[in-house]
Amino acid sequence: MILIKNATLVTQDNKRRIVENAGLFIERDKIKDIGQSKTIEKKYARQAKKVIDGQGKIVMPGLINTHGHLAMTLLRGYADDLSLEKWWLKHIYPAESQFTPHHVYVGSLLAILEMIKSGTTCFTDFYYYEDQVAKAVREIGMRGILGCAALDLPTFAFKSPLEALEQAKKMIRSTKGDILSVALAPHMFQTTSLKTYQQCKEISKGNNLLLMTHLSETKGEVDYCLKKYKKRPIEVLFKAGILDDKTLLVHCCWLNKKEIKILAQSGASVAHCPISNMKLASGTMPLTEMLKAGINISLGTDSACSNNSLDMFEEMKTAALLHKVNQLNPTVADAQTVLDMATINGARALNLEKEIGSLEKGKQADLIVLDFKNPHLAPCHNVISHLVYSAKGSDVETAIINGRVFMENREIERVNQDKVLDQAKKFAIF
Ligand SMILES: [Zn+2]
Repeated sequence: MILIKNATLVTQDNKRRIVENAGLFIERDKIKDIGQSKTIEKKYARQAKKVIDGQGKIVMPGLINTHGHLAMTLLRGYADDLSLEKWWLKHIYPAESQFTPHHVYVGSLLAILEMIKSGTTCFTDFYYYEDQVAKAVREIGMRGILGCAALDLPTFAFKSPLEALEQAKKMIRSTKGDILSVALAPHMFQTTSLKTYQQCKEISKGNNLLLMTHLSETKGEVDYCLKKYKKRPIEVLFKAGILDDKTLLVHCCWLNKKEIKILAQSGASVAHCPISNMKLASGTMPLTEMLKAGINISLGTDSACSNNSLDMFEEMKTAALLHKVNQLNPTVADAQTVLDMATINGARALNLEKEIGSLEKGKQADLIVLDFKNPHLAPCHNVISHLVYSAKGSDVETAIINGRVFMENREIERVNQDKVLDQAKKFAIF
């Protein structure tokens, strides 16, 4: 039972209401009521076990990061300033081959700390040994989707796609009724056969789960696809029955008009990762055309080794700036559109829009409190503008996930941060 009073609420509801002098009451894991602070205080002050004074603070839905590889935080800064092919094949893939399940566990702990401390309350992982990610998540606690990677190349976690799919099935059985859920994650066209994509889709359909995959990240990938299948990536997946409203495509930098139309009709969502795309010089996703077509676009950081942080506030600002300069048009990717991508659109992309993504009665209580009494946030003419263009992850003071306070005054109660940092440091040099 948590009562938040005297706050400014950025609800991200259908009307995108901003409520001044607002109160919000959390009962167990859900938002029970929202209204004027005085009314909420009168109704719930007696029941409240904890009161948060929101004076000078912004309360908003927790940010939803729809693409990442948690354990790769251990490779932050390991290989920079390279093309994606060189970066992955010559540096990242060989380094990852030395990973053990323990690396995945420690890297995930580090990522979870970084995400909560910068306002993310729901993550999407895409990796191997997801049981280790789940172990780390359960130790600290966070909402997330565990994407079990599947590819035809051998990895440090499995030798064949069949083995990868068996691991995914095991994960599905062990996460029933959890705030964690599983997704099938065929890796990308160059590493994954269409047969593996289809097997992943069968499992995801049979279990009502999300399927996510990297798609059209580079021009090289499109050329590969055209050569192998005589079709562009979206056409191949559509024809193979992979695309529907339970599909999340990551990147989509190289879509043409026909692909945008097919994608819009399919109902699949997209995870846009502007910083990673810029850092690896992969390409620019055609955001305006995709939004016009009605495609649901969410936002992701990708891994800490192609970003190199997991701060969704940085990602929002970069998304807005990238599309403005790319189109030489400052009106595109406006602040509200970008904030939607990091909140309610993210929830929709993960099929969680009924649970999270906005502050509304009956929804799960996943929210963050930002301290707006900072020089870089003064004066405040427009809250939405500040959230996208001026705020930083470090302005997040409190994070509540599923009705529980995970961070208060920037301290995460359930974990010894120094211990996690010490463990992570051991992996700094391979
Ligand atoms: Zn990725």
